[in-house]
Amino acid sequence: MTPPRMPRWSLCARPQCPVELGASKVARLVVTLEPCTMCAGAIVLSRVDRLVFGAFDAKAGAVGSLWDVVRDRRLNHRPEVLSGVLADESTAVLLDFFAGQRGR
Ligand SMILES: [Zn+2]
Repeated sequence: MTPPRMPRWSLCARPQCPVELGASKVARLVVTLEPCTMCAGAIVLSRVDRLVFGAFDAKAGAVGSLWDVVRDRRLNHRPEVLSGVLADESTAVLLDFFAGQRGR
């Protein structure tokens, strides 16, 4: 018997973490900001193989800053994590984006 197909998508409520995982297999996820708890949970449950992110989020980051959800040894899947990639550039992109949002 074939198990029911589960949707493999998630959309974080935080505008800072627009993580969307489509129906196709996602092997790598590259984002500017450290995922929050909700996104980190979606990454684990979606079995993303590798997570790459730029800027750390000291207030809500769940990949090493405030929590470390994706490396919790109690979970049955832990993606490889590459953090701080182009961190300064990612921070600049985020600051520019939100400055534009405030200017509307
Ligand atoms: Zn998030």
